[in-house]
Amino acid sequence: MLQLQNYIQGQLVPPTAGRYLPNIEPATGQVFSQIPESDAQDVALAVQAAEAALPAWRQLPAEERGQLLVRISELITRDLEPLAQAESQDNGKPVSLARTVDIPRAASNFAFFGTAAQHFASETHFQEGVALNYTVRHPLGVVGCISPWNLPLYLFTWKIAPALAAGCCVVAKPSEITPYTAFLLSKLCIEAGLPAGVLNIVHGTGPAAGQAIIEHPTIKAISFTGGTKTGEHIARTAAPLFKKLSLELGGKNPNIIFADCDLAEAVRTSLRSSFANQGQICLCGSRIFVERPIYEQFKQEFLAGVASLTVGDPQEEASRQGALVSEAHLQKVLSYIELAHQEGGRLLAGGQRVQVPGRCAGGYFLQPTVFEGLAPDCRVNLEEIFGPVVTLTPFDSEEEVLTWANGTEYGLAATIWTRDLNRAHRVAHALHSGIVWINTWLHRDLRTPFGGMKNSGVGREGGLEALRFFTEPQSITVKL
Ligand code: NDP
Repeated sequence: MLQLQNYIQGQLVPPTAGRYLPNIEPATGQVFSQIPESDAQDVALAVQAAEAALPAWRQLPAEERGQLLVRISELITRDLEPLAQAESQDNGKPVSLARTVDIPRAASNFAFFGTAAQHFASETHFQEGVALNYTVRHPLGVVGCISPWNLPLYLFTWKIAPALAAGCCVVAKPSEITPYTAFLLSKLCIEAGLPAGVLNIVHGTGPAAGQAIIEHPTIKAISFTGGTKTGEHIARTAAPLFKKLSLELGGKNPNIIFADCDLAEAVRTSLRSSFANQGQICLCGSRIFVERPIYEQFKQEFLAGVASLTVGDPQEEASRQGALVSEAHLQKVLSYIELAHQEGGRLLAGGQRVQVPGRCAGGYFLQPTVFEGLAPDCRVNLEEIFGPVVTLTPFDSEEEVLTWANGTEYGLAATIWTRDLNRAHRVAHALHSGIVWINTWLHRDLRTPFGGMKNSGVGREGGLEALRFFTEPQSITVKL
């Protein structure tokens, strides 16, 4: 059986204690690989390797660091198909999605930050005749990157690439639930000639390997993407150690659909924003608010679209919905469907586990599910479900929908659908969301700040924000 290894000091190595965890394929429910159950000893070795590599890496000209990152990007693109297959097998997502979104975006993360390092400049503040103040941005040092299971390679590289570009050395942990492509990435880093110790990948559980990373005194910063509860725990642990923190956490995103929108486009994109990756994207819109005059028409067309989303083997091209990531997660999502019934919701579509015949008989499949008739402040409309479950709610005024949209503890992303330019900007500015898409969803420009307000996170990733995060400014003043 496939046995993954840690990547420490430029080599693939077994965990020190020799223990492994089973890794399950969500589409079949079968174990398909074993992953290192690493602990504090492995993290300590990884930190040592990173510390040793740091002086040479930070002094390497940005062009040369960048060339290595671009080389890794090229190798990811070369291996697009096997990486997409691996991501689909490990996560349960349709291979078509991994091929068009996850893996290309992972490649572009490395390409973007490989070149961005060369365009990163710092400020000068000149005081005429008095002083010249300039800022130097030093790499932070050894940093920790911890990522979740929903977009495994995509979010893992979204952290690692800017950290390396900024001149930091990295100790990274992918989710233990989806470690496969991070393992394949370590092989590509070796092939690309990344110097030993610059990037170290330690596999294992959050409480063991993750905890050792956030507690390690040498690690200067933690870049974390995951659940809000885990983020809170990390903040509590890392704050007294004065670590810099970037936390990308949960969401409960609203889609606001006004009567003057391009309805066909709003329906098409809302289907994607509701059910892409089985609704397991932090940016998915799970609360769909539709202005009353078009509510029934939107509902009809949306439900027709939901009926066409084939649930099936993620390896098959025709499948639009793959498996949820684990039995435990499936049970969590089913418990919210039960809660929606209890809270008085009317089930419009789905609601049941799906038995896919053949090799996927033991998989974790769920019908895309739609409810209406739920109060905007019920638990189903306030708590993150992180699965293929959405609610439809009619609204009568801009003021009303803004109150509902902003009425959760989260503030990650929102979409607005309207042809009225003034309203689009007005509503966008009034939303408590780190990211607002107008007449689109998941549009990507790597230069924009990415992250959430309120309990959706602290700090921003992307573009210069990420490079600033992984560096420490030093102000130097010269008296004239
Ligand atoms: P978790 O918070 O459970 O886990 C995220 C990562 O943290 C995993 O690698 C996990 O390891 C690790 N971890 C867990 N406990 C600790 C600990 N004590 N110390 C250090 N690391 C720890 O999130 P999920 O993997 O379940 O991901 C889903 C969540 O991620 C959702 O809430 C979603 O909204 C959020 N998310 C946010 C995004 C954003 O950009 N804002 C983007 C994507 C997802 P292990 O796997 O072993 O538990």
